[in-house]
Amino acid sequence: MAPVTDTLQRPMRDLRISVTDRCNFRCTYCMPKEVFGPGYRFVPRDQLLSFEEIVSLVRVFAERGVSKVRLTGGEPLLRKDVEKLVGMISAVGGIEDLTLTTNGSLLARRAAALAAAGLNRVTVSLDALDDTTFKAMNDVGFPVAAVLEAIDTAAEAGLGPVKVNCVVKRGANEHAVADLATHFRGSGHIVRFIEYMDVGSTNGWRLDEVVPAAEIIDAIDAIHPLEPLPANYPGEVASRFRYRDGQGEIGVIASVTKPFCGSCTRARVSAEGVLYTCLFASTGTSLRDVIRAGGDVGGAVDAVWKRRDDRYSEIRSSHTRSPVPVEMSYIGG
Ligand code: SAM
Ligand code: SF4
Ligand code: SF4
Repeated sequence: MAPVTDTLQRPMRDLRISVTDRCNFRCTYCMPKEVFGPGYRFVPRDQLLSFEEIVSLVRVFAERGVSKVRLTGGEPLLRKDVEKLVGMISAVGGIEDLTLTTNGSLLARRAAALAAAGLNRVTVSLDALDDTTFKAMNDVGFPVAAVLEAIDTAAEAGLGPVKVNCVVKRGANEHAVADLATHFRGSGHIVRFIEYMDVGSTNGWRLDEVVPAAEIIDAIDAIHPLEPLPANYPGEVASRFRYRDGQGEIGVIASVTKPFCGSCTRARVSAEGVLYTCLFASTGTSLRDVIRAGGDVGGAVDAVWKRRDDRYSEIRSSHTRSPVPVEMSYIGG
């Protein structure tokens, strides 16, 4: 099948599937407690895509050139039997890279089963190395030590090198940049520092709370000299740097200060099967409805991708945001 490209000639290469919109953390920048409180209405279970429906979608995307699938959420390890889903997706022809992004809280005891089912790697989020900062950011009092243990267990299970995601928010965890870089130097794990983004409408994002990637690099370079590395593949979102003394590498994801929409090849499917073509979208197309009506899912995906013109981050400053953008915990990171 000829690859489908969008209006900016971008092909479809990666698929991010949110398997649940629920989470056991309440990170202040993602699911603030005031909004995601006891009365919050999450997607009802019968509205979620079943594993069979997810796999049927993966097949459709694989036929269109997608070779990388990432499971995300919400917290993907809250979805019951997600190992079974991993096994089913890893058996789909053409899927070369199957990964999962997690907050690490439930990973230590699941890592071996996930690896056995065919998961290739994990990304674990960790925003600080000190409990005071980390607990304030996850807002449920979850300790750092348990996440560190999960990272090591995952690597031992063969899910490494583990990528460790740290969202940097001014006034909250800038000091974690040096701490995390120093801690993971020489460990084989790769820390990736992410600029705080204006996803969704509930985190009260302000531009002055974004710590620019250049500042993050300068802070690390001052204590452990760095040099740039080329991208691993076209469209890689993280800019890579290596320690000059050979102690490994780090990445920065400069989605705010250096947008990469021109090479954005990602499709996103929410837990209830809505296809979004941008992290900052406010509307999507329900593939679940097409599946459940026995319709032409491939045709629906092609039609959406062919008219895709998203480049929100490149034009962020020039427009006021339309309707109500979807939340990160709903669409997945
Ligand atoms: N719960 C899992 C986790 O935290 O790894 C997976 C879902 S989470 C939405 C995926 C990634 O998005 C995490 O690394 C998280 O730190 C990041 N994220 C969430 N909100 C963000 C924001 N406002 N700006 C930048 N990154 C954000
Ligand atoms: Fe949950 Fe991940 Fe969002 Fe934190 S970033 S609230 S762990 S979905
Ligand atoms: Fe892709 Fe949208 Fe992010 Fe641009 S703003 S890189 S189009 S997800």
